[in-house]
Amino acid sequence: VAFFVGLGLMIALGQVVALGTAFVSTIKRILVTGGAGFLGSHLCERLVDEGHDVICVDNFFTSQKSNVDHLLDKHNFELIRHDITHPLWLEVDEIYNLACPAAPGHYQYNPIKTMKTSVMGSINLLGLAKRCRAKIFQASTSEVYGDPEVHPQPESYRGAVNPIGPRACYDEGKRAAETLFMDYWRQNGVNIRIVRIFNTYGPRMHPYDGRVVSNFIRQALNGEDITVFGEGTQTRSFCYRDDLVEGFLRMMNGPDEFVGPVNIGNPGEFTIMELAELVIELTGSGSKIVHKPLPADDPMQRQPDISLAKKHLGGWEPTVPLREGLARTIEWFKSIDIGEYRAPTP
Ligand code: NAD
Ligand code: UDP
Ligand code: UDP
Repeated sequence: VAFFVGLGLMIALGQVVALGTAFVSTIKRILVTGGAGFLGSHLCERLVDEGHDVICVDNFFTSQKSNVDHLLDKHNFELIRHDITHPLWLEVDEIYNLACPAAPGHYQYNPIKTMKTSVMGSINLLGLAKRCRAKIFQASTSEVYGDPEVHPQPESYRGAVNPIGPRACYDEGKRAAETLFMDYWRQNGVNIRIVRIFNTYGPRMHPYDGRVVSNFIRQALNGEDITVFGEGTQTRSFCYRDDLVEGFLRMMNGPDEFVGPVNIGNPGEFTIMELAELVIELTGSGSKIVHKPLPADDPMQRQPDISLAKKHLGGWEPTVPLREGLARTIEWFKSIDIGEYRAPTP
């Protein structure tokens, strides 16, 4: 009897250890830079919910602590104020590099700093990934295509970027970051992923970031004029943030052979005029549309070709239509105290 009881105990113990190992091995230490921002805070939330140990690093240039307030008392979330242009010493398994001002008004506020963030920030994080043997993900952008002559844009298109214009600090910074990622991969064997994000919107966008969705919703809710730049015939393709974050995770957790770059965005293409009319309809606003000058180097059209993402990311494609995503975003704008959102400072 003692033998069988002993055997039974050993089997049970073996199962507990096996289960424990399986459990421990799925929990990762994940660094999210720019983790307090619009997209970063959603990514942190998703990773915390999955049980990972998440370290959020941010210098709060364009974001508020309130974006991650609800995560602060979680045992598996940690917040560090740090600027990624400076070296960072941590022990992690994965890194999502999202730190960079993303709206034209934000990245043109201090263009030199924007470029430093993409270039020096990427070098520091790639150095960290190399030392820790961590997998590292770069949030690149559709801006690497500039004002594209090819439509929609596949990843093989090399872009038409003005290297000396007011958008160059962002576009060229992100292009240089892609180069650095590819070279750390080829030269040092760092395990990388590159995603090219197309215009994304949703709750926690900075209400004063000057981007078209936040401007139009804020203006419509306040009964102010809706400012369409130029004729409003230029197009953008708008992706709801949850669809985007799902694409991020599939890319990060996909096979190491597929490093990207891969387009992640919603192929639904709208003119800026159509967007203005939809926001007016959904808010029931009495606001009028007025036209303002088109900014320099403003791309005329933009639409992702997502064939590569569909093929490599398990059939990934956006599921939230613009009308529905905008309605959710409008509800969030109604729920916040816009006065709490300060303009960015360097
Ligand atoms: P965001 O401004 O809300 O987030 C960026 C975050 O990075 C902010 O919290 C900011 O404080 C932080 N940050 C900036 N510089 C930093 C530095 N030097 N050190 C540490 N933190 C710093 O913008 P977002 O829309 O959430 O964008 C996140 C990332 O996705 C960015 O890299 C952006 O270029 C990229 N992206 C976003 C979009 C979009 O439509 N939202 C499109 C293309 C690419
Ligand atoms: N780095 C960092 N954290 C680390 C390892 C490196 O911030 O844990 C920075 C470091 O300051 C260095 C950069 O990453 O300047 C690039 O590192 P790499 O090893 O590629 O180059 P090197 O140290 O030879 O300059
Ligand atoms: N835009 C606009 N009114 C605004 C803000 C932006 O008409 O109040 C236009 C802008 O000129 C551009 C498009 O909307 O053609 C998207 O601008 P956004 O700054 O959101 O993103 P990006 O140009 O980086 O795609």
